[in-house]
Amino acid sequence: MKKIKLSLMITASLLLVFIIVTMFNTLTLQSRQPSPKHVNGSIKEDHAINTLSKAIQFKTVSYQDRSKMDLKEFDSFISFLELSFPMVHEELELEKVNGYALVYKWKGNDSTKLPIGLTSHYDVVPVLEGTEANWEHDPFSGTIAEGKIWGRGTLDDKIGVIGVLEAAEHLLSEGYQPSRDIYLMFGHDEEIGGDKGAAMIVSTLNERGIKFDFVLDEGGAIVENMVPGVNKPVGVVGVSEKGSATAELSIEGSGGHSSQPKDRTNIGRIAGAIAKLEKNQFPADLRGPVEDLFEFVAPEMSFGMKYVFANKFIFEPVIEKILLKQPASAALIRTTIAPTIFHAGEQYNALPEKASAIVNLRLMPGDSLEEVKDFIEKTIDDEDIKVTIEGSEASGVSSIDSWHFKSIQQSAKNVYEEAVIAPYLMFAGSDAKHYDSIAENTYRFLPVQLTSEDLNRMHGTNEHISIENYLKAISFYMEVIIEANKEQ
Ligand SMILES: [Zn+2]
Repeated sequence: MKKIKLSLMITASLLLVFIIVTMFNTLTLQSRQPSPKHVNGSIKEDHAINTLSKAIQFKTVSYQDRSKMDLKEFDSFISFLELSFPMVHEELELEKVNGYALVYKWKGNDSTKLPIGLTSHYDVVPVLEGTEANWEHDPFSGTIAEGKIWGRGTLDDKIGVIGVLEAAEHLLSEGYQPSRDIYLMFGHDEEIGGDKGAAMIVSTLNERGIKFDFVLDEGGAIVENMVPGVNKPVGVVGVSEKGSATAELSIEGSGGHSSQPKDRTNIGRIAGAIAKLEKNQFPADLRGPVEDLFEFVAPEMSFGMKYVFANKFIFEPVIEKILLKQPASAALIRTTIAPTIFHAGEQYNALPEKASAIVNLRLMPGDSLEEVKDFIEKTIDDEDIKVTIEGSEASGVSSIDSWHFKSIQQSAKNVYEEAVIAPYLMFAGSDAKHYDSIAENTYRFLPVQLTSEDLNRMHGTNEHISIENYLKAISFYMEVIIEANKEQ
């Protein structure tokens, strides 16, 4: 009886310690959001709205087959910028890299400071053939209706080009003088990889020894109901983007007639290898930018969720399990595999001599191509299957403790007072990766508040932006310029 009483007492006191520690962690969790400051100045709204509307009307469409690109439209777009932003074109130096990628240099008055760069792209994806009629307004009309501007590029990413230029034009009209150099850089082929645009801008600037404190590109937006347990909209600033690689699994061997098959055929072995990879996925780990994301949102969560995230040291396996349930959140915490192409066989009664499959992989920061290949080989455990891999690893991870990130977070907070602004890991590729080599930090953020439906419209049908959001985006770019110029 005494023994039972003693063990009960021990259990009770351990439980009490557990409760005290975990409650302490929850209640002392500090918010990582700055207080919003008053937004500077008011912009010329009519000019801004009409200019974006007109910008949409140029069919600056990118195609994988570059010969299909109508370069006359690109030329006209550049001339249109000159007419629309007279002060920018008078006060800033414009250089056309490779004919179409635009670099505007706004000279600062303190040469001891490193420059910052604001970048976006003015090419857009095509409108899928056969979907034109599904648009409420013609995709290249730039229609202004229902408090919105409609058309391809309103979100991705003419809003970035026109938004940044509107911000600069406005600041110039008020006599604003930056202390550090500011580069406004606009690519013309982001949607097909940026090789002739952003990549060439980077190599040109690199030759001149130009290094940036940070470069800000398009990327995460502010979205409602994005993180469970957070009632406020959450704005995510990409501090890294996942790598993208392709692995080929192939096998060659004797074929033969289908009337006398071997137990293990080439198709069966490649299919078996894929099945093994799907069953034994890359290990999940809540680390890096995703761990940071939860550190930033946890203090803003409802009590239950806050309790879980404040005590990650205990609940991490549970959190990971929950995140693994949905493809979108699973992709945040592990390198993903997606079999996308399968090649084998030509005739119904002949066993193919060759079989191969292509697997698309999205790599977590820190996972090297070599490690990923190793993992695939060990998992499929079939020496006859040859594995080759090519592609790119994840970009570097930019700082979240420096003034660079803080100036972006502060600027977003000034404009979107309600939003929680946090770092995150981007799945999609952007031009930002090209800037990695010449910028200490690269951030990816589109300063607009969207619904998850809007996100689908980005490369889809009925892309549009509300005028309210667009004007806020311009304010954000002004804030970033001002905030970043206060810093060393
Ligand atoms: Zn884009």
